[in-house]
Amino acid sequence: MKKLIFATGNQDKMKEIRMILGDLDYEILSMKEAGISADIVEDGKTFEENAEIKASAIAKIANCLVLADDSGLEVDYMDKQPGIYSARWMGEDTSYDIKNKKIIDNLEGVPDEKRTARFVCVVAAAFPDGHVITKRGTIEGIIGYEQRGENGFGYDPIFFLPEYGKTTAELSPEEKNKISHRGRALELIKSELAAYEG
Ligand code: IMP
Repeated sequence: MKKLIFATGNQDKMKEIRMILGDLDYEILSMKEAGISADIVEDGKTFEENAEIKASAIAKIANCLVLADDSGLEVDYMDKQPGIYSARWMGEDTSYDIKNKKIIDNLEGVPDEKRTARFVCVVAAAFPDGHVITKRGTIEGIIGYEQRGENGFGYDPIFFLPEYGKTTAELSPEEKNKISHRGRALELIKSELAAYEG
């Protein structure tokens, strides 16, 4: 069976990746399972660049197909911040309770139609022959007026989906995976991998 490494240390992501890519003809390994550790500087200017930097760096070491993702929240009223800096915004160690409150404060008095935001995820696939492809998935929503829900992580409690009447922190993991930016990007990359003979 062909081997594929997903360049993440995040166990939740690995679970989701295995759920979505599990029926491909690939053995899916985490970095740890592949025995690889690397400190990669994500100094790209876009989600695409960062995902590509991570996947290519690991592919050079691993000599097999490597996938990596980069994701974040774009708030239109804040000029698409925190964007690629979502994890680092206000400091890596600052709690999401504080970060989420700050975003709600920034949008005080701003009406629904200007509260638009999206989660973005780009998945890069770096092939052993050196070529790299990227696929982008997004989910559109609005910034809520308060934090709601206990599921998910990060900015989920303030990311409100009007058509569901819920934040993504109020969706079950299965519901969220079906419609999420990461789920969508992984589905797109899956179609490419299915066609790849490595
Ligand atoms: P990374 O792609 O693992 O670097 O994550 C980027 C950051 O974007 C996360 O640390 C979160 O702050 C944010 N983020 C990405 N996806 C989600 C999501 O599905 N829910 C909430 N926050 C997210």
